Amino acid sequence: MRDKIIEIAKANGADIVGFAPISRFSADNPIYKIMPETKTVIGLGFRILRGIYRGIEEGSTYYQYTTMAVENMEETIMPMAQLKVAMHMEENGYLALPQRRHQQIMAEHNSTNPEVAYDAVYRDKPQEVQLDFLDTAVKCGLGEKGLHNVLLTDEFGPMVRYCFILTDAELGETEEYKPHLCDKCGKCVEGCPGRAIDENGNVDQWQCAVYYNGANGTKNPFMPPEAFEGFDNRLEIIAGEAKVTPETAREILDKIYFYPPAQHAYQCSICGRACDMACYMHLEEKGVLTKKFKTPFRKREEWKFSVDDFK
Ligand code: SF4
Ligand code: SF4
Repeated sequence: MRDKIIEIAKANGADIVGFAPISRFSADNPIYKIMPETKTVIGLGFRILRGIYRGIEEGSTYYQYTTMAVENMEETIMPMAQLKVAMHMEENGYLALPQRRHQQIMAEHNSTNPEVAYDAVYRDKPQEVQLDFLDTAVKCGLGEKGLHNVLLTDEFGPMVRYCFILTDAELGETEEYKPHLCDKCGKCVEGCPGRAIDENGNVDQWQCAVYYNGANGTKNPFMPPEAFEGFDNRLEIIAGEAKVTPETAREILDKIYFYPPAQHAYQCSICGRACDMACYMHLEEKGVLTKKFKTPFRKREEWKFSVDDFK
């Protein structure tokens, strides 16, 4: 059964498959509310194409990231693999419940998901229990937790997305990572164009939403010179130095429109997850990633516009 699950998952786009027995989850884990019969969590990891990030690194193409690395992965590729595996398990008489991120539904009262429009998020829905995705991925042996709260894998570093299937089948276990990738270098913190990550790696979701959407004009080839007219701190916003609140973030986001959003409320990413790119380059330079490429990710000096262009 386990080998067949791996075979089906990989045939449907998964690159990494891991298994966590229920004994790895403490009694207060949301799993017990979602499916108390769970005996194993199957983790599926999917690479995000390195070439898609390269478009943003070069400033040549942006929309590919949002559509191909976020929307199509979350809405097509990953659910297909989950469904195919789950259907196989049902065929064999087991329960199988896919778990993907609720991109637009959250239990938090006043947080947001930077990947989707803030006003498309349904907040305060505690009955819609979500797994702790990062923690579950680590327990499934897909990777380790990096400083800025992302999954780091041996193969692709942070360039992965992941989802799960809960099942009442007993499928053995995948060894958890002994953390060895994140060396706390801080490149992810420095790499954010909006100072959304503090020195301890905590991400301010509203700050991230503003700069994920491209509020830093020095890294946004689409921003017109008159951007954010009427904001007292417009140059601070454009320089990536404005500290936002949930309220001011909404005001700024209302003025951001550089590209049409994709389906399912996905916003076009202009930062291109610069935090993850910085991390990837660091891990690549150290030579610790097992998936090697013939040329380095960064090929020339990083480009940047001047804040003076917006004065
Ligand atoms: S950039 Fe450095 S500190 Fe941040 S997650 Fe990667 S390895 Fe860890
Ligand atoms: S680089 Fe982008 S995705 Fe990462 S924390 Fe900053 S704004 Fe958010």
